[in-house]
Amino acid sequence: MYQGIAASPGIEIGKAFVLKEVEIEINTANISEEKIDREIKCLEEGIAKSREQLAKIREKAELELGKDKAKIFDAHMMVLDDPMFIDEIKDKIRSERITAENAINQVAKKYIEMFNNMEDEYLKERAADIKDVSVRLIKNVLGIPIHSLADLDEEVIVIAKDLTPSDTAQMDKTKVKAFATDMGGRTSHTAIMARSLEIPAVVGLGSISRCVSEGDTVIVDGNKGVVLVNPSEDILKQYGELKLEYQRFKEEMKKLKDLPAETKDGERRVEVAANIGTPKDVKGALDRGAEGIGLYRTEFLYMDRENLPDEEEQFRAYKEVAEAMYPRPVIIRTLDIGGDKKLPFLEMPKELNPFLGWRAIRMCLDNPELFKVQLRAILRASHYGKIRIMYPMISSVSEIRRANAILNEAKEELRRESKPFDENLEVGIMVEIPSAAVAADILAKEVDFFSIGTNDLIQYTLAVDRMNEKIARLYEPFHPAVLRLIKNVIDASHRAGKWTGMCGEMAGDPLAAPILLGMGLDEFSMSAASIPQVKKVIRSLTYEQAKEIANRALEMENPEEIREMVGKIISEIK
Ligand code: PEP
Ligand code: MG
Repeated sequence: MYQGIAASPGIEIGKAFVLKEVEIEINTANISEEKIDREIKCLEEGIAKSREQLAKIREKAELELGKDKAKIFDAHMMVLDDPMFIDEIKDKIRSERITAENAINQVAKKYIEMFNNMEDEYLKERAADIKDVSVRLIKNVLGIPIHSLADLDEEVIVIAKDLTPSDTAQMDKTKVKAFATDMGGRTSHTAIMARSLEIPAVVGLGSISRCVSEGDTVIVDGNKGVVLVNPSEDILKQYGELKLEYQRFKEEMKKLKDLPAETKDGERRVEVAANIGTPKDVKGALDRGAEGIGLYRTEFLYMDRENLPDEEEQFRAYKEVAEAMYPRPVIIRTLDIGGDKKLPFLEMPKELNPFLGWRAIRMCLDNPELFKVQLRAILRASHYGKIRIMYPMISSVSEIRRANAILNEAKEELRRESKPFDENLEVGIMVEIPSAAVAADILAKEVDFFSIGTNDLIQYTLAVDRMNEKIARLYEPFHPAVLRLIKNVIDASHRAGKWTGMCGEMAGDPLAAPILLGMGLDEFSMSAASIPQVKKVIRSLTYEQAKEIANRALEMENPEEIREMVGKIISEIK
């Protein structure tokens, strides 16, 4: 059994196809002065040929994998078009009087090493791009045919040292059932491609390509990151069953995608939504069956850059999400900066307790001009979909009123400029500070909805820093105080004829779902990956059962008891 990194889920059993790398022989001898021009010409022809091949692969990738994945090949073309990279190769040929393949090899090595030494996992993986392009270029310079997985004549499991993006893009998807490679990590292109093709894959296996021969029977378990070679009949049978079980699980999850999040008896229907950070996350949310966006964390638009995003840029991002989700609702949270999130271009004071400091709405109210730019962008985007605004870190009525006053100014301005926006746009707040949860009945009069941010609500209620792993065990969503606060918020909103959602991580916990459902939570917003499971739990209970679970949980004294009680009920109803 070989243990690697689980890169793409699923189980497959089949015959191995071992992708052999042709040994490239690099002539390291010096060349005579007269041959320099010929080498440069060979290099240029190699570049042209590589470009032609990459354009074809790119086209195929765009058709089969979508625009986003095809961009990898733009990155490859950019390496070929990069004057720094190519001129350095040419200079080497001339000044050191060496062959084109030798020069490519040396320059590529330098860059590969540079990227490999970077801390950032993503940049590290970019070394693979340069390697892929340079090997292609060397082969084209030397006239070595480039192998491909495009014309396999039977179903196989591909075993390779490494699979380059071009290998995966060209491969015949109807024939490749899974793959296993020596190299790669979870963020490698091979892994990303495998996940988007939904092909099980295990990467980072070390030496699997040397241990497997063509035609061996191989099991790839992409759930556990395990590969088995020529297993016994018993193991084969066992994995055959696991494979079927996994397929059934996947089918079941897929079927849930378009089903409503309603209780078994049809008595209660809630909304299951996704949390996103950028417009790019919308596709994943829709694929998993999100009925809306319950939290769009806009601060990502402001981070990792030198200057503030202007109204146009923000408007485009919000509009893109609103249009892609339409007619589903999108809750856009206004800038939640401070705490652990800093902006390089905004002077933020050094604070002893940043999580209790100048953050989110507090900072926005002190910077009305900056805040108004965002509000104007959100309002303008509201014309293109169903947008709701949500203020973070609200602790009192006056903050809501002050934020709304700036929102009204923004609306006035847009009216004067004849710029359309949704006049009926709902405005809500995050309930993530205990004062807001306790005084929810007072705040409910000022808003259209609440969304409970348990990530912060738990840290403030229990006085447990959510970033400090030393006290992580004290960070307890099922603490009676937390459950009571949640119940108080939901009840207060309902009494005022408003609704309550939850966008903290707790909303995506299948164990918390029965309790929250029974308490009357109206909307559950979570990372897209958790949606099917939470939907499944909601659909497997009657509303009466959920209410009973919630009532029992609210009477219990400690979290362990609550978890045990809910866990038992869920396992029984499955
Ligand atoms: C929360 O606090 O629960 C929340 C959703 O916001 P964030 O995690 O962005 O602080
Ligand atoms: Mg928060």
